[in-house]
Amino acid sequence: CQRNAGEVEFLQAVKEVLDSLAPVLAKNPKYVDAKILERIVEPERQIMFRVPWQDDNGSVHVNRGFRIEYNSALGPYKGGLRFHPTVNASILKFLGFEQVFKNSLTTLPLGGGKGGADFDPKGKSDSEVMRFCQSFMTELCRHIGPNTDIPAGDIGVGGREIGYMFGQYKKIKNAFEGVLTGKALNWGGSLIRPEATGYGAVYFAEQMLKTRNETFEGKVCAVSGSGNVAQYTVQKLNELGGKAVTLSDSGGTIYDKDGIDDEKLAFVFELKNVKRGRIKEYADKFGAEYYEGKNPWGVKCDCAFPSATQNEIGKEEAQTLLNNGCYVISEGANMPSTPEAQELYVENKILYGPAKAANAGGVATSGLEMSQNSQRLSWTREEVDEKLKGIMAAIHQQCFDTAEQYGQPGNLLMGSNIAGFVKVADSMLDQGLV
Ligand code: NDP
Repeated sequence: CQRNAGEVEFLQAVKEVLDSLAPVLAKNPKYVDAKILERIVEPERQIMFRVPWQDDNGSVHVNRGFRIEYNSALGPYKGGLRFHPTVNASILKFLGFEQVFKNSLTTLPLGGGKGGADFDPKGKSDSEVMRFCQSFMTELCRHIGPNTDIPAGDIGVGGREIGYMFGQYKKIKNAFEGVLTGKALNWGGSLIRPEATGYGAVYFAEQMLKTRNETFEGKVCAVSGSGNVAQYTVQKLNELGGKAVTLSDSGGTIYDKDGIDDEKLAFVFELKNVKRGRIKEYADKFGAEYYEGKNPWGVKCDCAFPSATQNEIGKEEAQTLLNNGCYVISEGANMPSTPEAQELYVENKILYGPAKAANAGGVATSGLEMSQNSQRLSWTREEVDEKLKGIMAAIHQQCFDTAEQYGQPGNLLMGSNIAGFVKVADSMLDQGLV
């Protein structure tokens, strides 16, 4: 704790994993002898750098850029870049740490990493975002490469930002290579990558429901956020017969009791991805309710898909969800539930898909984008979607079986932490003290 003093989110993420591991360590003293825990919590490399850029008026700004190359036991570092004013070392270390286990669960050869900057793309012009991305990549390009570290998007980093960063990398390195994922289709992107995290979170929930012989038909679903993950979560829910009734952003929540159907969702895509407007405009347009400054967790629902940010469901919100009859939670966002909220889910034996399992569809499809780039081939939409579905089912099965094996059937929180850990730990043992 002392070594990482003040890194609240990082310590929270580490505690969650370590709390699950006691039975594995008891059975496998080899992990203790080789100090695997001490090694696994320490990033292999942490890079921090200055990102100077000029706004449209010629004023100079300085942001702080990061890349945490966390663990490469299973493959090259892989994980997103986040541009948000709250970004700091603690947040990126928690995300990088989670990513190591998540990538392990995907069954693909991917190490874990994360990065970003405390830059706020909100309210910036396209040219300002471009200049920032170019400055950021001018430094980052020294540290990444298609066989070393392959970043992707996250909060505040979508297709536009990936494009600007890819352009700058190519110019400096004079190499057209698969160094980023989430690229546009014309120049190396994969079909289904934009959809993958949201679709994956729904596929994961579908697997959980299947264990109780249920489907999404008629289920009322609360979704938070209105960015990439939230949008495609709603799209897939509509396809599978569910009814999404909420979306949110940092301003507040919209509640549409009739459901956000595909037509209304098309408005959200345009509003958020093209006009970069606020979700309140949905309420104005469709006469839905708007709860200013509130999150969606007070509405009555069967399923919840937190898809905005970390710690968005605390103990109180979790209790309200349970009291209102919610019994399925599939986490599209990273670490959206506090430890107290997680405790409630586990105690009440609801169907709980923790982030590192439920939202692994995004990075898994990034892995598929890397395979296509290496082969210089593009797979069809159906092919990628089938693979994504298969991977989500395999992740669910691993978590489910591991929880049973360790005497806590249905506890996918424990199952995901143990299954993710064992593969990384064994690989670290194989590779010696490095
Ligand atoms: P986007 O930037 O596309 O959307 C983020 C959404 O969450 C926006 O609606 C944003 O509202 C809202 N939000 C962000 N921060 C806060 C906050 N502090 N309080 C309230 N609302 C907030 O990001 P993504 O959809 O890509 O990411 C959402 C979550 O999913 C993150 O936790 C991310 O780490 C996780 N994730 C994403 C993956 C991906 O493939 N994109 C993969 C795996 C996980 P506003 O615009 O007002 O800020």
